Amino acid sequence: MSTRAVRGATTVKENTRGAILTETGFLLREMMEKNSLKNEDIICILFTATEDLNTAYPAAAARELGIVSAGLLDYPELKVKGGLKMCIRVLMLTEAIVAQSEIKHVYLNGAKILRTDLLRDENRVAVALDGPAGSGKSTIAKLVAKELGFTYIDTGAMYRSVAFYCIDKDIDYNNELQVISRLDNINIAVLSTKMGQRYLLNGDDVTDLIRSPEVSEGASKVATYKAVREKLVALQRECAAKQSVIMDGRDIGTNVLPNAEVKVFMEGQVEERAKRRFEELELKGITTTYEEILEDIKKRDYNDSHREHNPLRKAEDAVLLDTTHMTIEEVKDYIVEEIKKHIKEEE
Ligand code: C5P
Repeated sequence: MSTRAVRGATTVKENTRGAILTETGFLLREMMEKNSLKNEDIICILFTATEDLNTAYPAAAARELGIVSAGLLDYPELKVKGGLKMCIRVLMLTEAIVAQSEIKHVYLNGAKILRTDLLRDENRVAVALDGPAGSGKSTIAKLVAKELGFTYIDTGAMYRSVAFYCIDKDIDYNNELQVISRLDNINIAVLSTKMGQRYLLNGDDVTDLIRSPEVSEGASKVATYKAVREKLVALQRECAAKQSVIMDGRDIGTNVLPNAEVKVFMEGQVEERAKRRFEELELKGITTTYEEILEDIKKRDYNDSHREHNPLRKAEDAVLLDTTHMTIEEVKDYIVEEIKKHIKEEE
């Protein structure tokens, strides 16, 4: 057995002794149950309570559970501006057989928003972020994913990978039959790495090879083919089934994840979107002109919103966000708040 740390937190609805002891007791039981701990395994438990909770010592809940030999201590929580209210935090030191990385930390009630990266299974959250090319979806999705510990899935990268395969293998991407006849040879996988999500095409990392204007045009074409969409949508749903995700694309809210907990549709003036995309490509060292990008985006806007299968469309229950005059930070904060609002409403 080794010493392990288990974290937990919960919130209470009212500042009463009953509420504090009940919720703390429930939290402690969950922390012990989830980590298969017995009373005698526990070495000590530290509790903090926010200043709005002053009718009971949370540690008393541990004694009520029969935890009598462990050291217990209550502290006041730091008064951080904007911090979660009516919150009890717990740090439990315990003997355990499992590695620290296997320890399950427990966040209940309103405290779930303290560790959104731990939302799993029934608490998993899916965020659908749709909009036309250059509306800033990927920049925002990456920031939101980082802040909340979600996985970012770039579905455009999957269509781009199919287009890249066609260009690489001299297959005419305008010829639907040719593309479809090769679909079984195209295997796309998403790999989580320290550098973020990487997109593998038949085992090769193509993440940095699929951003050229030629691949963009090919992606927009292959995305009109039903069989291509069916294959990629299945992969996208698989990705969202395992973890909390923020997924960007054109049909996420309407087709891929119609039950996503949060849906946002981002739009912006085409000239502003072209300017952003041009600057992004310039930074990546891809040679092109603003005019070329503007034309490309107009063409893709048209293709994406006029195609037969899963066209670009705002889901009825999506929030519409015009980002033309918003900063990246403002858009990111807005979406993070929408997600947090959803998690709180789930209480
Ligand atoms: O988002 P991105 O510009 O990388 O997408 C490339 C192309 O893939 C888009 O122009 C669109 O035609 C297609 N796409 C799609 N459905 C998605 C994501 C992308 O049709 N969910």
